[in-house]
Amino acid sequence: MRHEKMVERIPAVALGIAVGAATFFLVIKRKKSNVSNNDMVDNNIDNITKQGFSMKKVPENLDMIVIGSGMGGMTLSAIMAKAGKKVLVLEQHDVAGGNTHTFEENGYEFDTGLHYIGGMVGDKRSLLRFLFDYITDNGVEWEQMDNTYDIAVTRSGTEREEFRIRSGFKEYKSDLLNRFPDEANAIETYFKMVKEVQHSVFYLFMMKMCPSFFSKIVRWIGHSKLQLFHKTTMEVLSGLTTNKELIGVLTYMWGDYGEPPARGSFAINALLSYHFGNGAFYPVGGPAMIANNVVRVIENAGGKVLVRAPVTSILVDKNGKAYGVEIKRNRIHAPIIVSTIGAPQTFQKLIPEDQHHRIQKQLEGLKDPNVAPAISLMSLYVGIEGDAKELDLPKRNLWVFPSWEHDYNCAVFKKDASKPLPAVFISFSSVKDPTYNERHPGRQVALVIGPAYYEDFEKYKDLRVKNRGDEYVKLKEKMTKRLMDCLFQEYPQLEGKINYIDLGTPVSCDYYLGNHRGAIYGLSHSPARFQCDWLRPTTPIKNLYLSGQDVIVTGITGAAFGGVMSAISISMSSMLRKGVIIGGMKAFMFELFPPKQYQII
Ligand SMILES: Cc1cc2nc3c(=O)[nH]c(=O)nc-3n(C[C@H](O)[C@H](O)[C@H](O)COP(=O)(O)OP(=O)(O)OC[C@H]3O[C@@H](n4cnc5c(N)ncnc54)[C@H](O)[C@@H]3O)c2cc1C
Repeated sequence: MRHEKMVERIPAVALGIAVGAATFFLVIKRKKSNVSNNDMVDNNIDNITKQGFSMKKVPENLDMIVIGSGMGGMTLSAIMAKAGKKVLVLEQHDVAGGNTHTFEENGYEFDTGLHYIGGMVGDKRSLLRFLFDYITDNGVEWEQMDNTYDIAVTRSGTEREEFRIRSGFKEYKSDLLNRFPDEANAIETYFKMVKEVQHSVFYLFMMKMCPSFFSKIVRWIGHSKLQLFHKTTMEVLSGLTTNKELIGVLTYMWGDYGEPPARGSFAINALLSYHFGNGAFYPVGGPAMIANNVVRVIENAGGKVLVRAPVTSILVDKNGKAYGVEIKRNRIHAPIIVSTIGAPQTFQKLIPEDQHHRIQKQLEGLKDPNVAPAISLMSLYVGIEGDAKELDLPKRNLWVFPSWEHDYNCAVFKKDASKPLPAVFISFSSVKDPTYNERHPGRQVALVIGPAYYEDFEKYKDLRVKNRGDEYVKLKEKMTKRLMDCLFQEYPQLEGKINYIDLGTPVSCDYYLGNHRGAIYGLSHSPARFQCDWLRPTTPIKNLYLSGQDVIVTGITGAAFGGVMSAISISMSSMLRKGVIIGGMKAFMFELFPPKQYQII
């Protein structure tokens, strides 16, 4: 049995070694940090993440330019900085961090695109924690959310049903078996498949890292293992059960990647089940703590992170080699350029047209409607007066659906936007972050997120931000009311306590985060995405690399590992020379042979 387990994990062990190499020789080469490992950086959004662009601030003799300062860009840049590389990160927004940035309005601090992560990040021995500790110099602590970290609710008229998702595979499975006693086979098979997908991630990672030719061989070898990436969630689950409620419960987190079950790949659903299998966590001090610490790591190596720095073009010479970027009519040169802003923006907007013949495959691939995301989001930022305990606000998320049939709910809403929102997500960052109330006493914040179709907002995209006209304001008011109704339905104690409300729409996301057509999760997580061989860190333009959520998958963890993959692709030779660090290897071994309480059973 033990032997079988070992054999089953050989690919994963190899993955561990390969990915471990991502953090490579950095400890050896690492420059002495000015920030003590145990010093937590001030948890206010620091000026260090708001340094405006000017040519005077650009360091000389850069090793690399990274476009975009989200989780992908930060991970890659920190890894490179720790290898002694001088990295310039250019961010178009006025604060670094991408989806991990936070902002303040009327004395309330709001997060944007990190509401929870899993991956056992609370355990210092885990792989994800190792990565975060590594890139932030141990600068971020993680707070566990409630043991029941998500509740999935259906509401239809006055009828309300819920399913509580508890931490731990054993607990999750036993709750499913209690609720669906006749579906034991389907539930057992589902967990086996989740495990299978988790193991076959090895092939996905290898395909991304290997040179194109070897990548095809890996795809061929791993073909049978990758089957579950190439089927929709609905195709797989309807082969296990006809119970629509069970399917609805197993796919309640479709909003985390934006594809309802009939469109999303089963693999992304399974990876999320695995990711949150041992509970959910939130960064102490808020998500901005990540950029606050990473920027220091980059600066310690002589690099810089500059904001209000929209890159308009990547400079490519006549031999098809990238050698710099253009920004505000300035040209900055570096031997390596990495774009983390998504494949569409990189290939369609930043590569000069006279170089498009080199990226035909990418441009053609992007035309496939199956790699365009199905849905976008709107985020309602709510400022609340009062004490979290008195208001009885939980440290968990709530998902509210009109029924368990997510595809049907989406189809109805797409046809007629006045029909019920197909999903609403509610979370209280002020409760999840134990330091929030020290910074903002007597204040709470809720984030209420609902799906939105980009097409419904597209006509306002070119109008001036904060001044898009009455029609847009009315549309926002209508959507705000619907999200607020949902908030009050679930938390009636909040009525009369609201001090601040603002709604971000898909066009706001495009403006603030440089998204493409409201694609907050990047390219679609459909089966088609996992068949795009061109979606990888290397590109046909020499010295130009991709990173971030389009490289592997969406999510903070997905984007961070996108950063790791790009680091491997850029400096494989250095890695091979210097070997793998002990800490990384220990974390990989922990991940591969986790203690019993963390295992899928
Ligand atoms: C509302 C919402 C909630 C989410 N909740 C969670 C969650 O709870 N847990 C989780 O794991 N994931 C969550 N996600 C997903 C997660 O935030 C993303 O997958 C991840 O942060 C993507 O990281 P990235 O580095 O690829 O891209 P981004 O974070 O988008 O970073 C790209 C950066 O590039 C910048 N940029 C764009 N164009 C240019 C240009 N031309 N020049 C310079 N800079 C440019 C952008 O401004 C941006 O800062 C959420 C996302 C959203 C939108």
